[in-house]
Amino acid sequence: MKMAVYHGIRDLRVEEVREPQAGKREAKIKVKYCGICGSDLHEYLHGLFPKSPFGHEACGEIVEPGPELQGFGVKDRVLAFSKDGYAEYMVCPQEEMIKIPEGMSWKRAAVLEPLAVAAYCIKRVGVKPTDRVLIAGAGPIGLMLLMGLKATGVETVYMTEIVEKRREKATELGATEVFNPLEVRISSKMRELTEGNGVDVAMEAVGVEESLKDCLSSLKYRGTVIVGGIFTDRVKLHMLGFVSRETTMIGINSHDPGLALEWVTKKDLALEAIVTRIIPLEQISTEGFEALTAKKGDEIKILVEP
Ligand SMILES: [Zn+2]
Repeated sequence: MKMAVYHGIRDLRVEEVREPQAGKREAKIKVKYCGICGSDLHEYLHGLFPKSPFGHEACGEIVEPGPELQGFGVKDRVLAFSKDGYAEYMVCPQEEMIKIPEGMSWKRAAVLEPLAVAAYCIKRVGVKPTDRVLIAGAGPIGLMLLMGLKATGVETVYMTEIVEKRREKATELGATEVFNPLEVRISSKMRELTEGNGVDVAMEAVGVEESLKDCLSSLKYRGTVIVGGIFTDRVKLHMLGFVSRETTMIGINSHDPGLALEWVTKKDLALEAIVTRIIPLEQISTEGFEALTAKKGDEIKILVEP
């Protein structure tokens, strides 16, 4: 079968490899799509890092259950978030997959995993519908946070994003207002919009110093900032404001697929709106990772179809 094999930084090769075999409590899955995650892109550019499985946004159909697989069977459509999803077939342990509801399109299912990250974030902070929230970054995770907050009943969600196409997408998906942080001073803007208090919760979904600073400086007294961006560079923070305003800062690297699935089924969230392209496996480097790296910013979520 064909599989994209990670050889090192910017060296991903589609190779002919042996089909994997399902272990005891695993399933062998014929992959329909595997989404390119921001963390995968980071690993492509900077090297692998712990707790970040490469190719974890896969969905497909079970073709062969392991001998002790429980709760799943042949032909089940599943979301598989283990690893090695950039291949015709993958194996996945039973605790790292969930069933896709009948009638849900593959395209929607393919972006359930990023929504599950947003679900975990929102639950972790316990965002209330009356909270005013700032999301820095309108990439896949930022947009999923937006949809998740909307599903939770949060009315006021401000966003920042430097790429115009992404700002447009955020507006289309219901953001209250979207700002270009290169043109607007975000902390002043947030204060202006919140009677001088600052937002209740800020979510960092970019992974750069400037957006983390925007989040911290836009918060109210005793506000919470969630950090989900993948940072390549070190960040210099002025800690006095952090201390004097008793800020809570939480890092996020988990997901809640059950809650994401509940939202999607109950609220009929059009998650697939973030998918901008579907490419064949053979083009994963050129049209996938390199295209996302080129910073044209026009692509949001790319799905790979083996
Ligand atoms: Zn992901």
